Amino acid sequence: MQQYSMVIHGGAGTILKEDMTPELEQAYIKGLEESLAAGYAVLEQGGSAINAIKAAIVVLEDNLLFNAGRGSVFTKKGVQEMDAAIMNGKDLSAGSVAGIRNVRNPIELAAEVMINSNHVFLSGKGANDFAIKQGIKLEPDEYFFSQFRYDQWKEIRDSDNYSLDHTNKGLEELMKDKKFGTVGAVACDQNGNIAAATSTGGMTNKKYGRIGDSPLIGAGTYANNATCAISCTGHGEPFICAVAAHDVSCLMEYKGMNLQQAMNEVVNVKLVKMNGEGGMIGVDAQGNAAMIFNSAGMYRAMQNSKGVKTIGIYKD
Ligand code: ASP
Repeated sequence: MQQYSMVIHGGAGTILKEDMTPELEQAYIKGLEESLAAGYAVLEQGGSAINAIKAAIVVLEDNLLFNAGRGSVFTKKGVQEMDAAIMNGKDLSAGSVAGIRNVRNPIELAAEVMINSNHVFLSGKGANDFAIKQGIKLEPDEYFFSQFRYDQWKEIRDSDNYSLDHTNKGLEELMKDKKFGTVGAVACDQNGNIAAATSTGGMTNKKYGRIGDSPLIGAGTYANNATCAISCTGHGEPFICAVAAHDVSCLMEYKGMNLQQAMNEVVNVKLVKMNGEGGMIGVDAQGNAAMIFNSAGMYRAMQNSKGVKTIGIYKD
């Protein structure tokens, strides 16, 4: 039987064991486990890669610990603006949303764009109007409030910094446990179809409608049955300029690299040269999987039909 596999991430960054309490570590592991189980169950029952990644992402979006959906960070204006994308490697169809508000599960809206709009990428008010028209679940502002995200934002809201500005000493100290809690999922199903999805609140104190790599097809999210399905996390700007996810696909298609080699080249060579801190998860249509990052840690988990199951946070 075709090997099937499920891989998820919950963000990468300066995630160090010494900064973590045992309780928090357990909470992250539990969150990753629940998401992995939700996605893997779909694959096990013969479901599609698209449905598996949606199921996995919804669980992470509903978990306050991750910077996506409910746990999204605050913008300069003190609100949550979320981005998400999904792509089907079977037919190269894709859906993205950016700068949306009050949508409980941004990945559901991205999937709705993919299937039921004649477009690929909707933003801001238009995307929210589409959500209302399609009956996508909305929630009031209070649903998205978390004290720890609010406190994180309060520390820097009066500055021009956003949470990845490495030049500001004060900020750097503040962000000692700097992590990009974006969530992502990739899967290869029993039919050898692959898909990728990414969902994020972006970066704390972002302004001017800043959009990161996550909803950009080719940058933070990409899937093509002929090569790979990739979801990225990290400092979005360099990932955009590197067209990181699609570059992995190109290295496989044009240079004949395998998944692991191509991801390694992009994450540990190309992005490093661009100061692009972060990582990515990937699968190919044979069910091979990889999780690669150049930061101190990346919340991650994978399971496949050969009985391999791993969950990790730090560099091994
Ligand atoms: N890549 C995301 C962004 O730049 C952040 C993250 O991965 O957490 O918006």
